[in-house]
Amino acid sequence: MKYIIANFKMNQTPQETKEYLIRLLPKVEEGKHKLVLCLPATSMGVASFMLNGGEVSIGGQNLCDEEEGKCTGEISGKMLKNAGCEFVIVGHSERRVKFKETARSINKKIKIALKNRLKVILCVGENLAERNTLKMLETLKVQIEEALKGLYENELENIIIAYEPVWAIGSGKVPTNKEIETSVKAIRKVITDDFSAKAGEAITVVYGGSIDAKNAPTINRAKGLNGMLIGGSCLDAGTFATILREV
Ligand code: PEP
Repeated sequence: MKYIIANFKMNQTPQETKEYLIRLLPKVEEGKHKLVLCLPATSMGVASFMLNGGEVSIGGQNLCDEEEGKCTGEISGKMLKNAGCEFVIVGHSERRVKFKETARSINKKIKIALKNRLKVILCVGENLAERNTLKMLETLKVQIEEALKGLYENELENIIIAYEPVWAIGSGKVPTNKEIETSVKAIRKVITDDFSAKAGEAITVVYGGSIDAKNAPTINRAKGLNGMLIGGSCLDAGTFATILREV
């Protein structure tokens, strides 16, 4: 079963999430996808109540790199778990760029997430300059190795790697399937080299960046992919339901 992960970013009030789920849930086909809704923290309560431990999972979009205490405005791994999350996004490019998230912080967040039994959706991807200078595969390697430093192979079953080229996020531009396949292969090779061939084969890899109802079926056919991470196109329940139907 493929993953369809929705990143709502800083959108929706709890009331809007409630109305969204009322529209979306009747259109979710049981057993077709592994659907994960990465919601704003304020919407988790209503979503957790409505989803009631069923097939659709909730995810956070970030967590603090400390476990608890003097971190005003932050949200901890334990809080996310307790709010009903099964997943959390770590290292999204918006956090790396806008909030100056460092590799060390991303590594700490992953360890805290795993400690709290949250599955991690680790975002990696090259920016346009790296793509233009053909440094994309090197970028992926560095980002993955820094993020997964100190992890044991058996922890990889709780890691999803989301390949999200920064230039594709929210831009309407998408790589070709051939380009996606090259990157997915490179990601699996990093895991093979650093852990084992079995781990490289088994690691879950999804693609994210400007997926819409039109291009989703094509991207879904890229070899080696285990699913998709969708930002802008998840915000309208009708559009998102179309994507769910088409892939
Ligand atoms: C994202 O930000 O994770 C993302 C995939 O965004 P979009 O689909 O809007 O490009």
